[in-house]
Amino acid sequence: MKIVVLKFGGTSVGTIDKIKKVAKIIREYKKKKFKIIVVSSAMSGVTNSLIKKSNYISENFSDSEYDVLVSSGEQVACSLIAARLIHMGIRSRSWLSWQIPITTIGPHKNSKIDQINKIKITKYLKEGGIPVVAGFQGINYNERVSTIGRGGSDATAIMLARFFKAERCIIYTDVEGVYTTDPNKLNKAKKIKVISYEEMLEMSSLGAKVMQPVSIQDARLNRINIEVKSSFVNKPGTLITKKSNIGYNKIITGISSTQNDSKVTLVGVKDKPGVAASIFKPLSENSINVDMVVQNISANGKETDLTFTVKTEDLNKTKKIIKNNRIINFRKILFEKEVSKISIIGVGMVTTPGVTFRMFQALANKKINIQVISTSEIKISVLVDKKNVNKALTALHREFKLDK
Ligand code: ASP
Ligand code: MG
Repeated sequence: MKIVVLKFGGTSVGTIDKIKKVAKIIREYKKKKFKIIVVSSAMSGVTNSLIKKSNYISENFSDSEYDVLVSSGEQVACSLIAARLIHMGIRSRSWLSWQIPITTIGPHKNSKIDQINKIKITKYLKEGGIPVVAGFQGINYNERVSTIGRGGSDATAIMLARFFKAERCIIYTDVEGVYTTDPNKLNKAKKIKVISYEEMLEMSSLGAKVMQPVSIQDARLNRINIEVKSSFVNKPGTLITKKSNIGYNKIITGISSTQNDSKVTLVGVKDKPGVAASIFKPLSENSINVDMVVQNISANGKETDLTFTVKTEDLNKTKKIIKNNRIINFRKILFEKEVSKISIIGVGMVTTPGVTFRMFQALANKKINIQVISTSEIKISVLVDKKNVNKALTALHREFKLDK
């Protein structure tokens, strides 16, 4: 069986007209003789409004009831899609997770898909039906309804593709694909035709919000080809696949920038073993994610300066924790909210010397000061003043020939 999983995000099913459009897209795959498994998210805004309702009922709304409540948006969307297909003379039905079942493990609100029972869906596919599966939800081993975390219908789609050995998983959304950089910030941004899982993971964890990073990781581990495309315009999207499927002709595939980073500098920290550990231990115990870190060499052998970044939403907590930390001594603490991390990403840089230099030179030419640097195998990140973000994106996009 040639199986394809089609996943529709909230905006793609956001109105009745859009749902009718989705049904037409599904029909095209049927014409091409695919066996189709559809996964839908809730109509846009629905999950948020359900969560709001839970807050009005109680600030400590029960986790298990939360899952029953917020998973209901998907039920609505799925029945509307299936009923539209039926209206068009196509055999279809909706499937809630417990009916398949899709079983999950882990806590309510944040469960993980463990197993998908293939029996009923396989039979239905063989009979020529199109199952429309509710994303985001599951049933746990206590037979309670569960949900798998915000944005989780991506994960439902990837897991269905994995269990049913689908040829491809297509993620329909409101953008045409993955871009070389945020098109809202740079109008020269270009749609990327193919990108590796590794690059996509870097792009998405750095701010390109096209897909859930955990789902990309699952797709990578299971070698599932993903295509991201728009349900509004009929154009090829972006294929996310393994590196060996890609012929690289560019050193850099994409450039990302972050929105909500803050910089913390401790001036005059005593330079002795264990200091960094005693600074970062209480932060990690409070689930504060420290990202970039630099420590200067100490000029006098006694004191050093330490700079790191955290998410801006964690800044106040970070300040408090450091001020209450009696183990460490420092002279002064400085904070800066208006910073952004700009990263160039590309598998191509592994085999190309001089990329770091080119990045720094391109920024220097625009008189952009680099505050912190960090690198990994396929990524170089710099921290810059937020007011320089657009200038930096423009310069780097041109330097690495992404404009063309
Ligand atoms: N409807 C759920 C949410 O808004 C799941 C999803 O959109 O993937 O988080
Ligand atoms: Mg969504």
